[in-house]
Amino acid sequence: MEIQSIVENITINIDGQDIDVPKGINIIEAVKIAGKGKEVPHYCYHPKLSIAGNCRMCMVEMGMPMRDRGTGEAVLDENGVQKIGWMPKPTIACATNASPGMHIRTNSEIVKESRNGVTEFLLINHPLDCPICDQAGECRLQEFSAEHGRGYSRFIEQKNVKPKRTKLGSRVTLDDERCILCSRCVRFSKEIAGEDVLGFVDRGTYSTLTCYPGKGLEHNYSLNTVDICPVGALTSTDFRFKMLLPRPLSSPSFHDRRRRAQDRRDAACRFTSPP
Ligand code: SF4
Repeated sequence: MEIQSIVENITINIDGQDIDVPKGINIIEAVKIAGKGKEVPHYCYHPKLSIAGNCRMCMVEMGMPMRDRGTGEAVLDENGVQKIGWMPKPTIACATNASPGMHIRTNSEIVKESRNGVTEFLLINHPLDCPICDQAGECRLQEFSAEHGRGYSRFIEQKNVKPKRTKLGSRVTLDDERCILCSRCVRFSKEIAGEDVLGFVDRGTYSTLTCYPGKGLEHNYSLNTVDICPVGALTSTDFRFKMLLPRPLSSPSFHDRRRRAQDRRDAACRFTSPP
């Protein structure tokens, strides 16, 4: 029996286009299948990790074909097409699994406004580190700030100052101000490396990433947490401030990438500082 025939496909509608996707797949992955450059922006979601749903960046609008509650009959519009009942609020795509007939909007006004709000919220206390950050040019927060952000900061209060240069282990240094509390590193250590060493302490604005008492980030895959961090919060102690864009100078696209990275750094600096 072919493997393909074992997986049941269902049809869902994404931005007006019907597509076949494997049953139960989440909406972030379904949108990837829809292709055409579509992407649902996200920070905490990773296909190999459990779903946390704490960054709230992957908001989409979701609707299901309407049925009469009493009779179970399809509710039709004046053209004889089944009506779609849209949820009044956007939902997170990472924790929403595709089901038959589901309708998704990834680019409506309410979705754009949600991403805009989440981005503004994440940048409120983010430091103006982009010009010196190891992750600059490859930072998801930078990219999504440019694509989905407001374009300027309305925050005129004092930014929250968190610890810098916190050593989590012999190889990894945490820049706490840059952390967006996505918990990717926490879940990676627990679920992939098999060592439950990281967690968050304190509440709200004061939440910080730390190791459990008496433990350190010393497992054999500790440096992979640097790679999986979507921003520049986890850095390799040996390479901190010594590397930028891991491409050889001879690469033909190097200068292009460098120029684009510089554009994003400039944009991010505008977004994290008051007007
Ligand atoms: Fe996420 Fe990076 Fe913060 Fe870990 S250090 S919670 S991966 S942003």
